[in-house]
Amino acid sequence: MNARDPRPLAAPLRTQLYIDGVWCRSESGARLAVVDPSTEKTIVEVEAGGAADAECAVQAAARAFGDWKNSSGAERAAYLRAIARGVRARGDHLAALQSLNNGKPLPEAHIDVADVAATFDYYAELAEQLDRTGEVEVAIPSVEHCAVIRREAVGVVVLIVPWNFPMVTTAWKLAPAIAAGCTVVLKPSEVTPLPELELTAIVAESGLPRGILNVVTGTGAEVGAVLAQHPLVAKVSFTGSTAVGKQVMKNAADTLKGVSLELGGKSSIIVFADADLDLAVDLVASGGFFNAGQMCSATSRVLVERPIAQALVERLAERATRTVVGDPFAPGVQMGPLANRAQYERVRRYIEQGKADGARLVAGGDAPRSAGYFVRPTLFVDIPAESALWREEIFGPVLCVRSFDTEQEAVDAANDSDYGLVGSIVTGDAERGKRVADRLAAGVVWINAPQLIFPQTSWGGFKQSSLGRELGPFGLAAFQEIKQVLTTISCA
Ligand code: NAD
Repeated sequence: MNARDPRPLAAPLRTQLYIDGVWCRSESGARLAVVDPSTEKTIVEVEAGGAADAECAVQAAARAFGDWKNSSGAERAAYLRAIARGVRARGDHLAALQSLNNGKPLPEAHIDVADVAATFDYYAELAEQLDRTGEVEVAIPSVEHCAVIRREAVGVVVLIVPWNFPMVTTAWKLAPAIAAGCTVVLKPSEVTPLPELELTAIVAESGLPRGILNVVTGTGAEVGAVLAQHPLVAKVSFTGSTAVGKQVMKNAADTLKGVSLELGGKSSIIVFADADLDLAVDLVASGGFFNAGQMCSATSRVLVERPIAQALVERLAERATRTVVGDPFAPGVQMGPLANRAQYERVRRYIEQGKADGARLVAGGDAPRSAGYFVRPTLFVDIPAESALWREEIFGPVLCVRSFDTEQEAVDAANDSDYGLVGSIVTGDAERGKRVADRLAAGVVWINAPQLIFPQTSWGGFKQSSLGRELGPFGLAAFQEIKQVLTTISCA
């Protein structure tokens, strides 16, 4: 076990599967190494689930669904609030596990923890409301009939999540699934099971009855694909790469199960010449370098109006060079390592490809340490619009800058992508901000604002970025079926 930092290891690490209310070993006895991305050393091994474990988990969730779907919204809300309290009470430990396993600096990990707790609290409110709004009478043009519309839980749902925001991507699915009355099989990323398993322990301690949450750690091929095909599963909610999302959809097709997908992005931040330059530098840097750029919402394409292009690039290059990269637990560190070796190699390949394609590197591009998956914040300019660097999701701390002359040109360049997740606009002209927001093909637009995401709003994008929406009432609706009941007797 790695003893680099004692804090996350002060309590025993959870390493087992959680099925039908019991922590257990995998059927096969296989285990997966969990690696500290700052040191490349194994922290611990966790159980590697397989098809037999996935089967047990689905069966447990199916057994639990019968009673759970009839529970009241108030009852489900009580568990959700207890989970939120548990997350806050163990916040320091959860944040330390995030930093250890994912590599994000501790202050960023604390933001994740706060988001998780807020999400469980928000869906507790929505669960309570369901006792009033889960069944509503609708006006129909008939005096002899009465019609009601009910919202019912879809059934057993499978939640598959990635490694860039462990616990957060889980909470955005798990909280509404519980609120709706679904039972769950969760497959965390094989890269970051440690914070996810600790969150599972908090859910277990909330007293949630057995079988409602089941967690199977393991690989996508051995667990995820089996779950996505299982005939007893009513819905798969997946967050991850667009390529795997397409595979999940194909696997779900045979049984026509519902699918929600949160996938990749290649988003833009548009900086107009009338922008406050200090604000623009902050927003561009955070949109590209937060979480070491491993964000589906990374605004990795920077479109800047020509008169301020040189000034912005100079300020960004200075910011990138000054960014403190290092141990996520060290005070003052602003960027940790990338979360795993595959991602590190992928990002370094893109940087080399960018240079080969003729883009000009003005900051970063190198790996500052011999051990750990560290890459310095990187800035490219003069990027050909057809290059992979400009068109493909890099998922690392790499910003690419292009200049524009007209508003139309900026909008066209931002929309020229297979993706449509988010967009940012920096301008001193409020009218222009709204006008450009209207024209961006993106599910979320921030105007002069950082990437704040409140659980009350919505999450998801256009085109190949998403299918469906998370958060807000949309996140709950994703786990509900609609049933119409028409009767000749009074609704009352
Ligand atoms: P990934 O697609 O490789 O893996 C995501 C999850 O899917 C993991 O748990 C993995 O084990 C599982 N998986 C892999 N193959 C599978 C299969 N055949 N069937 C079922 N499950 C399978 O993605 P990643 O590398 O973990 O995460 C990075 C990607 O996630 C990026 O593309 C990023 O944009 C995206 N992402 C999107 C959002 C969003 O909200 N849109 C949020 C976070 C991350």
